[in-house]
Amino acid sequence: MTDQPLPEGHRSGYVALAGKPNVGKSTLLNSLLQQGVMAVSSKPQTTRRRQIGILTLPQAQVVFLDTPGIHAPRHELGKLMLDEAITALAEADLALAVFDVHAGPDAVDAQVAQALAGNTTTLVALNKIDLADPAALQEHWDAYQALLPEAEMLTVSALRGDNLAELVGRIVSRLPVGPRYYSEGEVTDSFERDIAAELIRAAGMQLLRQEVPHALAVHVDEYQERGEGGAFIGATVFVERESQKGIVIGKGGHMLRDIGTLARKQIEAMSGRKVYLELKVKVLPGWRDDERALHRLGYKAGR
Ligand code: GDP
Ligand code: MG
Repeated sequence: MTDQPLPEGHRSGYVALAGKPNVGKSTLLNSLLQQGVMAVSSKPQTTRRRQIGILTLPQAQVVFLDTPGIHAPRHELGKLMLDEAITALAEADLALAVFDVHAGPDAVDAQVAQALAGNTTTLVALNKIDLADPAALQEHWDAYQALLPEAEMLTVSALRGDNLAELVGRIVSRLPVGPRYYSEGEVTDSFERDIAAELIRAAGMQLLRQEVPHALAVHVDEYQERGEGGAFIGATVFVERESQKGIVIGKGGHMLRDIGTLARKQIEAMSGRKVYLELKVKVLPGWRDDERALHRLGYKAGR
């Protein structure tokens, strides 16, 4: 990890990707990150893992989150996933909607747009410009713009690389000034672990409100892939005092269960697969002032 000072005005933030299957979200991420870290396929819904892509530039760090939940609600479950994806979107700094410009919008694109409307700032990438018929381009452009009248749009080709530098520039300009959350060279995957820990912590903070202010830390002890069965995550929530342990566990274990449920839903939305989450609570007195403890919890210098 490099600790070189960042340039003034360094920007960072989360960008949630939205778009129906097959529009080229994974291809786009691959091209943006310039390495083959995302699952790409011509079959819809193959993106099941590695949905995080971290783009570290001299001036900015962009953390892309694929939101596989934002697909056509083919059935009730789809609707539920859509709700969760919307929650994920609300927490992002920016939404990047991806549409296929060589075809006009269909009902699913309209649904994606509807999910985005009024939520986060949205930037639209009209992908597959290499396939687009110039005669139909204006009409398709207008039809997509009508779905998201406020959004800024640009055409790209994830496959050929057209306009991607411009896209990155526009993304970065919309992120808030902020630090690097991840060290250079860290691109994806192992960060699911970190992000899972962060989501668990955030769920705890949200549900506990002021009761245990800032006294929560989370360590992911186990993160196991279980094939089609999803992933098993075992994590420990650390508090500073015995009294706080009682609050986190709650009456009859209710609070810990609620934290687990909320965190699990968010981790599932983030990773696009089922997650089985097991939480424990431990007292680690004064962990906030203890450098070794902080290191063990994965807190890095400057964070
Ligand atoms: P996702 O489901 O949105 O993640 O879509 P994928 O990234 O898996 O891409 C679906 C298909 O579209 C793949 O066959 C890609 O090669 C293809 N594709 C993606 N972007 C482009 C593009 O800009 N131009 C062309 N011609 N094909 C693309
Ligand atoms: Mg994909």
